[in-house]
Amino acid sequence: MREYMEEFKLNIKTPIIMEAVFIVIAAAMYLATSNTFFIFNFLYIGTAIAVGLFMMAKNNRYTRNLIMLAVGCYLFFYVGILGHENLSLSGFWYYLSLGVFEGAVIHFLIAKILGPLLFGRGWCGYACWTAMVLDFLPYKVPEQPRKRLGWIRYITFAAALIFIAALFLAHVGNIERIMFWAFIIGNVLYYAAGILLAFIFRDNRAFCKYVCPITVFLKPMSYYSLFRVKCDKEKCISCGKCKRVCPMNVDVTDNSRKRENGTECILCMECVRNCPKGAL
Ligand code: SF4
Ligand code: SF4
Ligand code: SF4
Repeated sequence: MREYMEEFKLNIKTPIIMEAVFIVIAAAMYLATSNTFFIFNFLYIGTAIAVGLFMMAKNNRYTRNLIMLAVGCYLFFYVGILGHENLSLSGFWYYLSLGVFEGAVIHFLIAKILGPLLFGRGWCGYACWTAMVLDFLPYKVPEQPRKRLGWIRYITFAAALIFIAALFLAHVGNIERIMFWAFIIGNVLYYAAGILLAFIFRDNRAFCKYVCPITVFLKPMSYYSLFRVKCDKEKCISCGKCKRVCPMNVDVTDNSRKRENGTECILCMECVRNCPKGAL
């Protein structure tokens, strides 16, 4: 099993493993909280991802976008807006400060802090409600070299923390309502910045590379990810196509964990689909 995951190949076993992982999470969360919502929630997400991975294994090109829409819209509209659950970074800090082990805290632990030890930045490739829109923009493959602007993510990360600290220090009333509107306004700003940066840098994922504060968690955790795309050096002819089609500028021919932009891999499988020798 461990060997299979380290040599990650998208085949019929992948959706079965993902479904099993989400069933275990659903059961564990139900046993820990007695809340039936978690069963519905994790079974829905796990099944959407498993069905999508099954279709991807059959080489259906647009399936990843469909998975993202299914999971991203569910989390953003159903859980976030209808359920009044702030699932963004500000919500994480807010509920963590209150010591409430629900909503955003669970979401962050599973999708963005502990989960990446298993599935890397699968969140960014299959579930994020920001990237589900950005991935439809025209620059699927970056048309400009990567910029040294990754430091911006630490500013946006700190801004969310400072925002929550300020609310507590100022003893602001009706804080739940503020958190709801923070979720809406924050995401509108993310969409606006994401679309603007995609056109400025001619790169759909520019927001992910330079601005998104969640990557402060995602990058170090995904460094240790069990799921990784690896290169069979015997088959590789060094044509460079995998790097040219990668939306995140990863050098996937280097199998070491220190590969160039290795913590940026979103497991989108574009490199695998395009490798002429089946080396990935
Ligand atoms: S980097 Fe941020 S915006 Fe981009 S896919 Fe990941 S979580 Fe979403
Ligand atoms: S696309 Fe395949 S053959 Fe070409 S460099 Fe990448 S891994 Fe090697
Ligand atoms: S193209 Fe390959 S290396 Fe690049 S993000 Fe997608 S899966 Fe990762």
